[in-house]
Amino acid sequence: MNSRDKRLGMDRAISRRDFLNGVGVAVGAVLLPACTRSGEPPAAGPLAYYPPAETGLRGSHPGSYEAAHATVQGRDWAAEKSDEHYDLVIIGAGISGMSAAYIYRRDVNLNARILILDNHDDFGGHAKRNEFTLDGRTYIGYGGTMLMEAPNSYPAVAKQVIDELGIDLNSKSESYHEHLFASRGAGRSSFLDKETFGADFLATGEHGIGESIADMPLSESAKAELKRLFDDEEDYLEGMTATERRVVLESQSWRNYLQTFAGVGEEVLAFVQKWPHGVWAIGADALPAWMAWIEGYPGFAGMDLGYDDHGGEEDDGHFYFPDGNASIARLLIRKLVPAVAPGNSADDIVTARFDYAKLDQPENDTRIRLSSTVVGLRHQRGKLDADVDVTYVHGETARTVTAKKVVWAGYHAMLPHICPDVPQDQAAAQGQSVRAPLVYTNVLIRNWTSLAKLGVQRAYCPGSFFQTVMPTHPVSMGDYKFSQSPEEPIILHMQHIPLEPGLPAPEQFRVGRNKLLETPFETFERNIRDQLDRMLGPGGFDAARDIAGITVNRWPHGYAYSVDAESGDVAWWPEVWRHDSRPWLESGQRVGNIAIAGTDASSNAMTESAIEEAHRAVRDLTT
Ligand SMILES: Cc1cc2nc3c(=O)[nH]c(=O)nc-3n(C[C@H](O)[C@H](O)[C@H](O)COP(=O)(O)OP(=O)(O)OC[C@H]3O[C@@H](n4cnc5c(N)ncnc54)[C@H](O)[C@@H]3O)c2cc1C
Repeated sequence: MNSRDKRLGMDRAISRRDFLNGVGVAVGAVLLPACTRSGEPPAAGPLAYYPPAETGLRGSHPGSYEAAHATVQGRDWAAEKSDEHYDLVIIGAGISGMSAAYIYRRDVNLNARILILDNHDDFGGHAKRNEFTLDGRTYIGYGGTMLMEAPNSYPAVAKQVIDELGIDLNSKSESYHEHLFASRGAGRSSFLDKETFGADFLATGEHGIGESIADMPLSESAKAELKRLFDDEEDYLEGMTATERRVVLESQSWRNYLQTFAGVGEEVLAFVQKWPHGVWAIGADALPAWMAWIEGYPGFAGMDLGYDDHGGEEDDGHFYFPDGNASIARLLIRKLVPAVAPGNSADDIVTARFDYAKLDQPENDTRIRLSSTVVGLRHQRGKLDADVDVTYVHGETARTVTAKKVVWAGYHAMLPHICPDVPQDQAAAQGQSVRAPLVYTNVLIRNWTSLAKLGVQRAYCPGSFFQTVMPTHPVSMGDYKFSQSPEEPIILHMQHIPLEPGLPAPEQFRVGRNKLLETPFETFERNIRDQLDRMLGPGGFDAARDIAGITVNRWPHGYAYSVDAESGDVAWWPEVWRHDSRPWLESGQRVGNIAIAGTDASSNAMTESAIEEAHRAVRDLTT
């Protein structure tokens, strides 16, 4: 270990990181049989199985994806036949799969026997909960899906589920501490790093730039360009009609538009490159200019393009649980398996301790079986009106259960590899579903005095490993109280989107996904410590002393997008789509007794789509 690593605290013992680093498969093998084998209770007492409290590499954790990857690469599994038979088997315990179970019981058969299979050791799919415990107090964060965006405008079928789960969208005014950070002088900021910009510099103020622009480590001309860009008063397409403007914006990336029409140079382009990362998981080089316009990004001076404004990131009709939409997943699970947790409200779900041993009991109407990757799906005798054999792998054992009906709520691109019943054209459409990789990292820090001192709440870090650093959403609900004082611990949420700028977006996702799976925990940890130390050090932060826990949630198969086969265009926003083909619709067509849910079916990685597609899939099974 070099002296810099030592100073950053790379040798400090924090929440089991060393144990999990690189030996996750072994960890899985030790823990999983005890907790998820059908009908067997987990170890009791302090060893009881409770995945939200795991730290280290989570999300797509070691042990969760190997069977799927081996299958796609052609591995055959010799499966033993189980005598389990279900009315409905659902693949995927994300919001879509669990909504499908809930809606099926509600609308089709209240007494249905349902099995839900998921490859992870926890339920929720992207909607994952992370917990840390420090000095006897628990801190809750989101490992993925962080909020409901404008839930009052959710489609009716999704809104109905949210209502039935007892979520009171009007309660936000009480639960969300909107002014907490501002009241301590903390706001938007930008951190420019010396490797990219020549010197480390923390800017604060409007857009995270404010008055600091004068001192930024940029050339004078770049400062003027940056100011002009963010003042956003110039119409760079002056004299053009709305149609002509659309032609310009629909034909190039935001980066290209800024370079060509707004006349900004490389320094400013480097500054804005990661601006869209958090929302779209792509950089300015591959984000279409019209999408930047829709998002309200700078450079368009409010120009009229003739289509609806999406509202942009600043629209805050959002709803937040402390663990993001993992609370929705937990509410669904508690509806499906009431014995799993005490309580009956959307407030008490936040601190309800889940007993994972109850998820897969033989007496349950709905059983949830974790760490179980589905590797085979076929109608018996090849007849599309027959029962379906569902083969899954748990550990090294493959088993086949049978089902009258199936809902596939996993990634569509895998389906053709495991289901010979999918027609060829549909398999091609499923192959056009791509996934953007993302990493949501949670870092428990012992206090946030340095953020308050420096005036930092949300920091945009264009050149750094993590492009976004911010505290998790300040939410208190039920018995859970968010830290109010800067002297108390909080969780910092740090985002990293692995991409390869310059390539077409689907290629960037592929390269980024591979990079992500090859990046060891140690690399994440070193970058976390280094970046926070340099950013917050001037405010008194000391990475070695102040970091108490790290959980890296990596999502190699993150946001769902469809791609047009001919042009390679990504359906970022399917409502504004200029091609005739809609591969996502074909991808989600029912195949015999297998209906297909999940956000791949809408090319829209949002919670409301996950629920809407679940509703449609259940309806497909009954018509
Ligand atoms: C980091 C991140 C942040 C996000 N933030 C938001 C947000 O703030 N708001 C929002 O609305 N949306 C957000 N999303 C989008 C999110 O994808 C959707 O909201 C929604 O949670 C998707 O639900 P799903 O059930 O369709 O898919 P998933 O959540 O992906 O669930 C599918 C499940 O099926 C499993 N599976 C796949 N194949 C198999 C197999 N062969 N066998 C067994 N199991 C399998 C998967 O591993 C996964 O657990 C975010 C996504 C990511 C990745």
